[in-house]
Amino acid sequence: MADKKLRIATVSLAGCFGCHMSFLDIDERILELAEVAEFDRSPLTDIEHCGDCDIGLIEGGVCNSENVHTLREFRKHCKILVAVGACAINGGLPNYRNYIPLEECLGESYLDGIGVENPQIPSDPELPLLLNKVRPIHEVVKIDYSLPGCPPSADVFWKFLTDLLAGREPALPYELIHYD
Ligand code: SF4
Repeated sequence: MADKKLRIATVSLAGCFGCHMSFLDIDERILELAEVAEFDRSPLTDIEHCGDCDIGLIEGGVCNSENVHTLREFRKHCKILVAVGACAINGGLPNYRNYIPLEECLGESYLDGIGVENPQIPSDPELPLLLNKVRPIHEVVKIDYSLPGCPPSADVFWKFLTDLLAGREPALPYELIHYD
């Protein structure tokens, strides 16, 4: 067992949690990972704020003010920040809304779309404000690595993490690189 466990934080911003599900597809290898690493803030833990970590895995692009805040918090506390999946790398499927004015998107969802009752655009100050466009995370903070795929396969996560744990520069073999 390593003297000091590697600390990993993960988060889903404008993501679908599919990248996290794919990460969990490492199946029983997670026991091996637990020997050498522990999780900080993550949907897998109850930790609310990102503490000092070795690795931050970011799923999803940036679509609202809270995403920006969270992403900056991760950048501040993670030595290595990783864009995980198409959404984090280039905005992914959610950035299709960039082709439609935000006002129109909100109108369709909350005012005049099919099945809308009691039409009103939510305005509670507790709710994060949507950005005009969905953005890839590298437009907000510096990113150290990217894991492509929608989602990246479990083997991509495994190869990347085991390379880092072994002190090697992470390198994905050609057969693990895909963007779909
Ligand atoms: S990259 Fe794909 S799987 Fe990952 S959050 Fe985006 S849509 Fe979901």
